[in-house]
Order: sequence, then structure tokens, then C-alpha cells
Amino acid sequence: MSLNPSNEAFLQVRNLKKHFPIRGGILRRTKSLLRAVDDVTFSIAEGETLGLVGESGCGKSTTGRVILRLTPATSGSVLFRGVELLSLGGEELRKTRRGFQMIFQDPYASLDPRMTVKEIVGEPLRAYGVRSAAEREARVVEILDAVGLDASYLKRYPFEFSGGQRQRIGIARALILRPSLVVADEPVSALDVSVQAQVINLLLEMRARFSLTYLFIAHDLSVVRHISDRVAVMYLGRIVEAGRKDDFFERPLHPYSHALLASVPEPDPFRVRTRSPLSGDVPSPLSPPKGCSFHPRCPRATEACGVQIPALKEIDEGHSVACHLYA
Ligand code: SF4
Repeated sequence: MSLNPSNEAFLQVRNLKKHFPIRGGILRRTKSLLRAVDDVTFSIAEGETLGLVGESGCGKSTTGRVILRLTPATSGSVLFRGVELLSLGGEELRKTRRGFQMIFQDPYASLDPRMTVKEIVGEPLRAYGVRSAAEREARVVEILDAVGLDASYLKRYPFEFSGGQRQRIGIARALILRPSLVVADEPVSALDVSVQAQVINLLLEMRARFSLTYLFIAHDLSVVRHISDRVAVMYLGRIVEAGRKDDFFERPLHPYSHALLASVPEPDPFRVRTRSPLSGDVPSPLSPPKGCSFHPRCPRATEACGVQIPALKEIDEGHSVACHLYA
């Protein structure tokens, strides 16, 4: 299990924190901290897909952005193939960056409407010094073909495409530099249900074809079940459960995981639910509850839960949970 970092891990994230200062007053002094990511530790083996799940605002997208250095970390460590990403700067960071890319949630907002497909997908090649226009075009045509788009689309603009096609363009742009790590941030949640499966299958195909490793961020557990090897659950900036996919879906441990699974629509109307779905809203990360931050919503909370933060512990091989019920 690679939740606990080992030296062999492809990506090791240790004690990662991202706190946003909330400023106020005339002097713009820091009045409080928004703890978006609060002491997150996990690792991913090469070729593996880790599904990072949780409700909106739990910190999963911020975690992805901090790992890729799109947002600066407050503290912690991110080792990518043994290189500490958080201390890289300048040319070293630029060179290392081509090895990791992001696929964004919204294919409408993430593509520049003034650029053609050829310019959008070929732009990273230009940024990394491929000067020959003919070579750039040949590589754009090759990656477009890989994602199922025709070379005749080269001179078209994003508005001329459907949502699914735009996400294919976004995937082509992310893969053109042949990265080894891809952070996919809710890559299908803005798409029609009818095309979600096609894009997920494309991501699986790309993983096999280009030997990719994915951090797959999503709130839809059915999508995560389809694509992931392991699952990590976040709640208010912390990982509360992590394990192999089958262990997580068949034998969830954390009360929050039980509630998330109960919220997945049941296709069989005659099957009786054995778990209760979530009630209430996620508390504000500006003032998280003391102790276990899930305790105001937890049906199994005890007095101790409001006092002490439970540590993430391995309960079965490769299956960890942060909950006092498993002390
Ligand atoms: Fe519920 Fe307590 Fe476990 Fe938190 S520590 S999930 S409140 S039982």
C-alpha cells in the first residue's frame, strides 16, 4: 500500500499543507487561516491511478494544484521521481514540469477561445523549444489522432466543438509533451452523462498507451470506481480513509465513506439501503470543528470525537482510516 510513502514511490506527498491567509482591516493583517489542505500524506506507484474523492470544498482540487506547483504550498514535501518539487525554481522547475500535466474540469473555460486547435495543442511544444512549425504540426496531428480527433480540425476554434470534443482537445494538450504524471481534476463532471463514459474510457486508453500515472480527482464515486486502483477520501483538508479500490467499495471503514457511498444513486429500486446518506453541509474550513472535523455530521460520534483529531492508521494491509472507532 502506498499511502505511507516509501522510497520506491513515483509520487510521494508528505505532510502537505496549503493554508490561505484571510486578511482584513486597513492594514490587511491576517485575521484567520483557511486550511484548504491540512497535513496530507499519500503516495502513488508508477502506472497507478489514485482516485481522490470528497465533497466540494474538501481540498482535493487544491491538493492537485499544489502538487503541480500551480499554487504554492504552505509546507510539506512532494517528491516526484525522487525530486523535491516544492524546492525547485526557475529553469529546473520548467524542465521538470513537462513530466507532469493537468487536465482541467471545465473544457469550456480551459481553452482559449481565440486560439485554433493547432495553436492550443501545439503551444506547450513551442514553450519547450520545438521551433519547427512542421514538426509541431506533425506532433499535434499525432496526438489528436490518439485522442480520437481528426486532423481536419486543426484550424477550428473551441466554440465549434461539443463538450466531449473540447475535453479531448484538453487531454491532447496535456499529453503532447508526453508527461508521466497527470492530475485530472474532475475531468468529466462538466460533461453530459452520455459522453462521460467515452472520456473515461479514453483516459484509460491513454494511460495504457503512454504509461501514465493518474491522480484522478472526482466527487462521483461511480466514475472513481471505474478508473482507480486505489481511493483516498478527503474531508475538510485531510485524508480520512485510503485503500485499494475493492477494499474501499466493499468494506469502507470511515463513517464519512459510508455516507458518501450511501449517496450514490441505487440502480435497483428493490434493493434496501443499509447505509444512511449524508446530512448537513460541510463546515467552513475557516473554522473547522474541533477534534474530528466530521463529528457534527457523524451518526457514530462520541464525546471524545469532539476533542481529539484522529490520526490516520493502517487497519488492514493497505487500508487506513482516521477515526476513533478504530483506535
Ligand atoms: Fe465519527 Fe468519531 Fe470516527 Fe469522527 S472519529 S468519524 S466523529 S466516530
